[in-house]
Amino acid sequence: AQAPVNVTVTGAAGAIGYALLFRIASGQLLGADTPVRLRLLEIPQAVKAAEGTAMELDDCAFPLLAGVDITDNAKQAFDGVNVALLVGARPRSKGMERGDLLEANGGIFKPQGEAINAGAADDVKVLVVGNPANTNALIAQRHAPDVPAERFTAMTRLDHNRALSQLATKLGVAVTDITTMSIWGNHSATQYPDLFHAQVGGRSAAEQVDHAWLEETFIPTVAKRGAAIIEARGASSAASAANAAIDHVYDWVHGTDDWTSAGVVSDGSYGVPEGLISSFPVVARGGKYEIVPGLDIDEFSRARIDASVRELTEERDAVAKLGLI
Ligand code: NDP
Repeated sequence: AQAPVNVTVTGAAGAIGYALLFRIASGQLLGADTPVRLRLLEIPQAVKAAEGTAMELDDCAFPLLAGVDITDNAKQAFDGVNVALLVGARPRSKGMERGDLLEANGGIFKPQGEAINAGAADDVKVLVVGNPANTNALIAQRHAPDVPAERFTAMTRLDHNRALSQLATKLGVAVTDITTMSIWGNHSATQYPDLFHAQVGGRSAAEQVDHAWLEETFIPTVAKRGAAIIEARGASSAASAANAAIDHVYDWVHGTDDWTSAGVVSDGSYGVPEGLISSFPVVARGGKYEIVPGLDIDEFSRARIDASVRELTEERDAVAKLGLI
């Protein structure tokens, strides 16, 4: 039998963690033949709640679950880790400036990057979900110099899935009729969901909707969907975020035929400064996410991508100024 894969989840006692852990343990993250050992990292105040979740995991008697360890120590949590899901982050509270938010998260993602550097398995793959995800991923990556930079990614798969769903509803097609969808830039309100490259029935999606809908309805609906969910549910999206994390890692490990979207370290493609963690259209091959090369970018898309990348550059400069990278 295959040896268990070590999967570490931070913020395990939170809402996304609760929606995520049972799916990992049931085999949906890595496949139905792969046993997993879970490591849950939490802050000391939340360890007890994580223990409660672990009791429920026990009660599922999952055949693939080889064990659950709970700790508030990052070094222990990431020792031997193969897949790291960094979900726990410092949420923006009322009146908090962006600098304060970045600083609080630097205090989380710097030591986590160091712990991954010190103890992770050679094949470690890291997905950052906790916001601001792209910049948190950058901070962790910069503190793990011995890990190949491409192993650090940030989640834009939920934005991608939201874009598929909105477009499918608009055109009255199935989500499976849509190919080559992509999200560019930051996982924030400036993100750019791209309908010019997306195809439905072999034709550009942008040609099949009017431009006013694309610009005034589609883009803001995708970008502000998180706020709409909070407004409707009274709590932020958790199950859909967990689902996107599962999709991101499953595809990273198993490969894709179609494009998907992920925040990956830029190689300078499409004018995105090298080293920034930005979302691109990607495919997964041989255990690597690769940026789809050679696309023509029209003027409208260019301006949108540039605006989101400018925001990422500002976040990077702000954390550099704080001495976090
Ligand atoms: P959630 O589990 O709901 O969210 C966790 C993080 O995911 C937040 O940063 C949230 O960002 C982000 N996120 C990314 N995409 C989405 C999305 N589409 N919808 C919603 N959230 C998204 O938060 P909880 O407060 O329930 O739980 C957080 C847990 O993390 C707590 O148990 C806390 O103790 C823990 N924590 C652990 C740390 C550690 O292990 N070292 C460090 C810090 C916290 P946003 O806030 O922008 O919604």
